[in-house]
Amino acid sequence: MKKILLGLVCAAALNHMSCTNLAPRSPSLVVMLVVDQMRPDLLTRFDHLYEGGFRWLIDHGISFNDAHHEHSYTVTGPGHAAIAFGQHPGKIGLIGNSYYDRIKKKNVNCVEDPYAKVIGATQGKARSMRQYDTKGLGDWIKEKNPDSKVISLGGKDRTACILGGKDPDLAIYYNKKGKFISSDYYVDELPFWLSDFNEKLDIGSYKDSLWERSLPEKVYLDHARIDHYEGEVDDYDNSVYSPVFPIGVNPQTDPSSVFMDRPWLEREIIKIAKMAIDNESLGRQGAPDLLAIGFSAMDGMAHNYGPFSQEIMDAYIKLDRYLGDLIEHINDGVGLENVVFVLTADHGGLPLPEYVVENGGKGGRINPKHIAEALTWVDEECEEVFGKKLYHRDGGNYFLDMARIKKANIRPEQIYEIIDGYLTKVDGIERMAIKQDILNGRDTSNINQRIKNMLHSENTPDIFPIVAYGYISSYPHGTTHGSPYDYDTNVPVIVAREEFKGRENPSRIATVDIAPTIAKYLGIDIPDYCDGKEFEL
Ligand SMILES: [Zn+2]
Repeated sequence: MKKILLGLVCAAALNHMSCTNLAPRSPSLVVMLVVDQMRPDLLTRFDHLYEGGFRWLIDHGISFNDAHHEHSYTVTGPGHAAIAFGQHPGKIGLIGNSYYDRIKKKNVNCVEDPYAKVIGATQGKARSMRQYDTKGLGDWIKEKNPDSKVISLGGKDRTACILGGKDPDLAIYYNKKGKFISSDYYVDELPFWLSDFNEKLDIGSYKDSLWERSLPEKVYLDHARIDHYEGEVDDYDNSVYSPVFPIGVNPQTDPSSVFMDRPWLEREIIKIAKMAIDNESLGRQGAPDLLAIGFSAMDGMAHNYGPFSQEIMDAYIKLDRYLGDLIEHINDGVGLENVVFVLTADHGGLPLPEYVVENGGKGGRINPKHIAEALTWVDEECEEVFGKKLYHRDGGNYFLDMARIKKANIRPEQIYEIIDGYLTKVDGIERMAIKQDILNGRDTSNINQRIKNMLHSENTPDIFPIVAYGYISSYPHGTTHGSPYDYDTNVPVIVAREEFKGRENPSRIATVDIAPTIAKYLGIDIPDYCDGKEFEL
């Protein structure tokens, strides 16, 4: 990182003398960095500790801290879709990480592809965006410049498959069994450099690795809470509840499975990104290329320990270093003057509810037993009153069988009243939303628009629960996201270039604005179907 910082001092001095009015050259490489479950405070709270990639991005970036995902359900698949496609997830039909498909009558993964085969390993799932009839930033770039290359990569399959648009040149993701794979939707074989990487990657060697703090313990006590905190997940050496450093891999645990919940995954992702840049000559062919990188392990760690834990603080300190290494590598190979970076997240997240309450907020964990009881009572009462069940239920989501309801001469409101009566008695369920009311404008709550942006004509359930502010379903430990509230929708957005001076822009923007803004920046027309609009850089 020192080399880059030194270079900047010279460039700034030179600029001052003679180059003040030179417009930055059009980028030949877009690097899209998406950190799973990154809240804005994870950049601001540790700002003065960052010396690597976050440092460079903040110091050379326009930071939007009032950026929101304007949809809910705020989870990984829809969040990545908003970023990469510039469209609300409901419209394109990507309404969850997996969801009940009313036509197929089964739960489908959001990147499920029954026609595809796994490439690069014998184990894993073949994934793609085949089922969606739309295009994203990666596709717009390739349409305008047929020579452009689009490569997306991430720990999670949905992260990699969504971030590159519908038809990237390559999407790479982890198969949870020690290999980074793709599907034949993208390629017939892995590029040689990725096969080489897989051969050398010895996940088993992580068996005895210990996750320890990168900085002295005192620094963590100054910036995060105590290490042993009731509510964190303890998945290592857990005969006595002890969610503390160091964190290793239990003797009976396969290290390739816990890899998704450790900072080391992100270090391997950075290695793959560097190899992709070098071997695919990204950013060196005139037409702009897109490299999209998702940091999926950050999500697992935030789920386990929460944003105010020492563990998450350390994961961000480490990611800052890894990103510094990547940016330095890009400077050496491509030249930072040729690159535009985007840093954002697919959703935010709630702190551990115990921490929320300790700090005077309202919150809690929804007791799964109470939910299960309420669901059973609804089923029983509906059968008792109407003679049979007139819906398909997926968790707390109800898909009404309208034909049977009509035939039985029943009003849907009668079913709703029973469902609402039982489920809203569960602590943490705010209310049951009715799809039709949201569509026809009868639902006027302030979160109505976020829910509306998630609606899909077929696949959205007719009746579904809205969680209460501050409540989560994680039980008894850990935290999560998914709600329509600001703690889940607010994410950082930074657009950085070497020439930019770091500054904050207080404007309210939406994550669907990112793709059209970058398109416009590259001289590409924004498609009419885009829901976002260009923001000023
Ligand atoms: Zn996520």
